Amino acid sequence: MRILHVASEIYPLVKTGGLADVVAALPPALVKRGLDARVLVPGLPGILKGMSDLKPLTRIGPAFGAAVVTLLSGRLPDSGVQAYVIDAPFLYRREGNPYVGPDGHDWSDNHRRFALLGWVAAHIASGELDPDWQPDVVHAHDWHTGLVPVYMAQNPGMKAATVFTVHNLAFRGIFSLDCHAELGLPTRKLTPHGIEFHGKLSFMKAGLVYSNRITTVSPTYAREIRTPEFGCGLEGVLRDRGVDLSGILNGVDYEIWNPDDPAIAQSYSTDNLDGKIACKSALQRELGLSDKAIGPLFAVVSRLTSQKGMDLLLAALPDLLREGAQLAVLGTGEGDLEAGFQYAASANPENVAVHIGYDETMSHRFMAGADIFLVPSRFEPCGLTQLYALRYGTLPLVRRVGGLADTVVDATAENLQADCATGFVFNDAVRQALGARIREACILYHDKATWQKVQRRAMVQDYSWDDSAANYEALYRSL
Ligand code: ADP
Repeated sequence: MRILHVASEIYPLVKTGGLADVVAALPPALVKRGLDARVLVPGLPGILKGMSDLKPLTRIGPAFGAAVVTLLSGRLPDSGVQAYVIDAPFLYRREGNPYVGPDGHDWSDNHRRFALLGWVAAHIASGELDPDWQPDVVHAHDWHTGLVPVYMAQNPGMKAATVFTVHNLAFRGIFSLDCHAELGLPTRKLTPHGIEFHGKLSFMKAGLVYSNRITTVSPTYAREIRTPEFGCGLEGVLRDRGVDLSGILNGVDYEIWNPDDPAIAQSYSTDNLDGKIACKSALQRELGLSDKAIGPLFAVVSRLTSQKGMDLLLAALPDLLREGAQLAVLGTGEGDLEAGFQYAASANPENVAVHIGYDETMSHRFMAGADIFLVPSRFEPCGLTQLYALRYGTLPLVRRVGGLADTVVDATAENLQADCATGFVFNDAVRQALGARIREACILYHDKATWQKVQRRAMVQDYSWDDSAANYEALYRSL
């Protein structure tokens, strides 16, 4: 079975979030199962630089405002998975964030940049661009690829089926209706039953309406997005597509994320947790934190946004400090939150450290060095960092929402008794609830025997890609 994955970012070449990790890990996991999985990505500078054996395959010609468009083929680093890259210098050769220009605003031609991605996918699917390969299923990821099934539906002879995965419904790919003229789609698609969304058009909605199946990245999020609280205005469409919508949990690449990784100060395992203590001391030294704190070291590696509950954390910081605990934050995001954390660090230099920036290697040191990993999200489609944290014996403290609810078992008295607890969970997105769970986690931290038992339980959780890939394969076969 041949599967073409279409996405706008892929680890380690271009990454702004968990989407890139998933797109890098799922295709090789499918290949391991005997499927012929390939990837189609835009020719962003990081992708053109990082691929091996990149060669021109087909000259496509002018499209979506680009004079020269060439389909290249090559292999992804590490996995060696076969990849197609769209080289369209006029649209893609821009350094920095793939979606946003240096002025902090979305690139004004994003509708054309991502329409091209969908359009090329459709033409690979119809067999025009690679005479030797045609997919059975095209699997498109997030709003950037929402037009994939729309362009595919333009060809009545199309045999390939489509799967559309929602990684984050909050980013809906909304553009003004005027953009429609540049997309090469018939106006009959421009209705509330098609890609129109409250007087605008939405690429995300296009993917939801026109794909054969919809998945999202955890079972709980698949239920939540049918409700007004989490549906971002698309809950009606998602309820209509109810039977075609399911949740498949993301996996983790344990080759990259494990407490034996080369980025950390000392490796450790369930049998010997001493290395973790060395990792904590190294992280405290690196961040200039005191090594005298009596409480645990909490860590955050995240976009600093209200989605991630970072405002709740700032509000609950006094509760954390009152317990003699420490906080280390690695992230970038909303200006007021960055400033809030920086102010907290300057006011409490011994116990709060903040690194504003995106640093993959440093994120490994945070995972290994912290005692507790905080993910107090308002909504969380799957969340990857709590899964990484589990493997490092860094107990996640999360809100009971989306994939966090599916993956962390709360350290209640019963769960501790049954030896199935792996972290801490709170319900309401309010400072008091977060603060209370932080206090309770700090109390458990002083019970070393129980703490280590929970750590060991966390470290043996298996969220590898094998199960997820098997679920995706079953979905493709059902099509
Ligand atoms: P989202 O995709 O919503 O941002 P996920 O938890 O699914 O959240 O994925 C986030 C990914 O980005 C993880 O791999 C995490 O380690 C990484 N990440 C987030 N912020 C940073 C940062 N400042 N430095 C390094 N890695 C980061």
